[in-house]
Amino acid sequence: MFPAAFEYVRAHSPEEALSLLAQHGADSRILAGGQSLIPAMRYRLARPAVLVDIAPLTDLKYLREEGGFLRVGAMTSDMTLERDKNVRARYSLLTATSDVVSDPVVRCVGTVVGSLCHNDPSGDWGAAALAARAVMIVRGPDGEREVSIDDWLVDSFQTALNEGEMAVEVRFPTPDARTQGAYQKIERKVGDYATAAAAVQLTLDESGRVSQAGVALTAAGPRPVRVEAAERILVGQMLTENLIRAASDEARAISEPFADSRGGVDYKKDMARVLVARGLRQAAQRLNITLGASA
Ligand SMILES: Cc1cc2nc3c(=O)[nH]c(=O)nc-3n(C[C@H](O)[C@H](O)[C@H](O)COP(=O)(O)OP(=O)(O)OC[C@H]3O[C@@H](n4cnc5c(N)ncnc54)[C@H](O)[C@@H]3O)c2cc1C
Repeated sequence: MFPAAFEYVRAHSPEEALSLLAQHGADSRILAGGQSLIPAMRYRLARPAVLVDIAPLTDLKYLREEGGFLRVGAMTSDMTLERDKNVRARYSLLTATSDVVSDPVVRCVGTVVGSLCHNDPSGDWGAAALAARAVMIVRGPDGEREVSIDDWLVDSFQTALNEGEMAVEVRFPTPDARTQGAYQKIERKVGDYATAAAAVQLTLDESGRVSQAGVALTAAGPRPVRVEAAERILVGQMLTENLIRAASDEARAISEPFADSRGGVDYKKDMARVLVARGLRQAAQRLNITLGASA
């Protein structure tokens, strides 16, 4: 199918992008990699009258560590993140996620920020950003503001972005040497959206107890879901098989997937449990923890 008619404009600076958004109002939409917006327009699920293309904004194509964060600019592709040596060495959760987003062709063009702006509950970056406790940086007519990822991911395909604003960056806290994560995904074939997926990130204190835990699910409800009950179970404890079992049971309990061609509700709920358990074991392995049944 062809998209409905639209006007196409290229922005050459963030200021120009904001001015174009102000000029065209609710009818306009930012175009980044186009990997979600263009298919949505072709199926007439989206009908923006004006597309503001930010592809020329090479200033927003960056990946740098600063102030305790990995700062990922709005035009940074999944592939850039995936191929970065520092990210691969130190950000195990992000690497595991970027490796399984769609296929290399999509990852070459699609952006991490674009995915977080799209907020598809089956998209992989939402859960990863929740587990990593990311922060979105948004620019608008009144300047710049920070939005925690929990506040950002409002509902299916809805974020905390206001009319006339654009996201310029996502920040992931830089993990210390005692932090490791994992992203576990079941897909029907390479390039498919998740049937179910889970993101986890654990930080240990000096004594080897979990001091911070991030646990979140993909394709488990109308938006990416933080499993707060699992995080509460993990924090303050030594990691054991029994603890992993208790935490992953919470993932099953909170998961509210839709039945579709990828599987039924019970199957997907159980996969949420299995994938959280696998992710926690993988993070434990990366932290050199040998798991016993109990502490
Ligand atoms: C065949 C195929 C398979 C896919 N499989 C997966 C998968 O397995 N997992 C997965 O997570 N994703 C998958 N995707 C989706 C894709 O990875 C992301 O959704 C996509 O990369 C979004 O980034 P983009 O730069 O292409 O955004 P666009 O498509 O350009 O934009 C998406 C939305 O975000 C808005 N937007 C983008 N950037 C900004 C900004 N800076 N400020 C404000 N609003 C903005 C746009 O207005 C639009 O509403 C798949 C896509 C395709 C085509």
